[in-house]
Amino acid sequence: MREDKRLSAELWEEFRSLVTGEVFLHAEMARHTTMQTGGAAACLFYPQHTTDIKQALAFCARHRQRYFVLGNGSNLLFLDSGYSGLVIATSQLRGLQFEKDGLTAWAGETINSLLDAANTFGYHELNFLAGIPGTVGGAVVMNAGIPQASISDVVSEVAVLDRSGRVRVLSQSDCSFSYRHSRIRDDGLIVIWVRFNLTNKQRYDRRLLLAQRAIKQPLTYPSAGCVFVNPVGFSAGELIEKANLKGFTVGKATVSTKHANFILNLGGAKSTDILKVIDITQKKVYKKFKIKLKLEIEIVGD
Ligand SMILES: Cc1cc2nc3c(=O)[nH]c(=O)nc-3n(C[C@H](O)[C@H](O)[C@H](O)COP(=O)(O)OP(=O)(O)OC[C@H]3O[C@@H](n4cnc5c(N)ncnc54)[C@H](O)[C@@H]3O)c2cc1C
Repeated sequence: MREDKRLSAELWEEFRSLVTGEVFLHAEMARHTTMQTGGAAACLFYPQHTTDIKQALAFCARHRQRYFVLGNGSNLLFLDSGYSGLVIATSQLRGLQFEKDGLTAWAGETINSLLDAANTFGYHELNFLAGIPGTVGGAVVMNAGIPQASISDVVSEVAVLDRSGRVRVLSQSDCSFSYRHSRIRDDGLIVIWVRFNLTNKQRYDRRLLLAQRAIKQPLTYPSAGCVFVNPVGFSAGELIEKANLKGFTVGKATVSTKHANFILNLGGAKSTDILKVIDITQKKVYKKFKIKLKLEIEIVGD
């Protein structure tokens, strides 16, 4: 074993002895992202509660290690070279609680289980999120949504941990939500729970939205959803299609012929294949329309 790998393994073994949640060394991130590509993280950790995360933040600060917060990995591209820091996976931070006119959900709940619970209690206004394969935390950080609505429309409070391990409760306006963006990521905050306002003023049909999604989106191959944000006044997918890039392929990564803003992993793609498709797409769209496509997905790695 190389010296730096041995030191890294010793470090994360020490970390394992300090926390309650499960710890995995050298975790292949292709198994933890919907794109199913990318190398290994030095350490993957499943905190069981807020104290566990505080321990992790303190450990990283003490040992000058980087950390990254993982929801369901549905908006990410991990580099093939991997990630030398700690990945804090929120998927075991679960819990849902109904209150008068509201619902509190822990960050690791899936959007699907959130909608199941809300619908069981007769609330249909969160249904516009149907089919988004993320967690509550990831959806709030990304301000996930569809053209008609975004999660920020229904968020009332977000409890976060800051880098120093302090819990703060942010109001909706504190989060500075905008299209597929919030200040939570910019400030390096970790979402712990989210409170939603439920009034049933707006109702969405979950089944209909899922059916429409299946018609428009290529859901049979691994992907990270829309790769680029829509430039103001344009559809990224339409620009890519008009640049004749549907079906453009590098290795096992291809621009979907169904929805041009999706890059699909045809099986065994490398993140470098996807990065090449991204690069050429950006260049061709710029050449034709003088518009720079910006990434919606996040690239993570060393
Ligand atoms: C098939 C498909 C369809 C999709 N359709 C849509 C759509 O219609 N609309 C849409 O908006 N998106 C869509 N997406 C993209 C993606 O599902 C959303 O962005 C989702 O909200 C990401 O949630 P996640 O839990 O997977 O987050 P991840 O991908 O794991 O992380 C995304 C970002 O959030 C951060 N993060 C995650 N959890 C936390 C937390 N608890 N605290 C702090 N930071 C956190 C991560 O560090 C990262 O910066 C789609 C993706 C796929 C694969």
